[in-house]
Amino acid sequence: MMAPRHGERERPMALEMRSECEKCTAALPAGSEAAHICSYECTFCRACAEAMDGTCPNCGGELLRRPRRRV
Ligand SMILES: [Zn+2]
Ligand SMILES: [Zn+2]
Repeated sequence: MMAPRHGERERPMALEMRSECEKCTAALPAGSEAAHICSYECTFCRACAEAMDGTCPNCGGELLRRPRRRV
């Protein structure tokens, strides 16, 4: 007999490390110094971030260089 399953709610894509620019799909591997993110984790390469004046086109947030993490 099967127990009802809990925990099947949808998960928002929080804090997911994206590996490519959302605009030009340039590769942005973990640890890449070119990666820029906004507060909502929209991810862009440096060229796009600079071209957009450091402002996220999706949410208007400020694009900052992505902190490096352990791989
Ligand atoms: Zn780009
Ligand atoms: Zn954004």
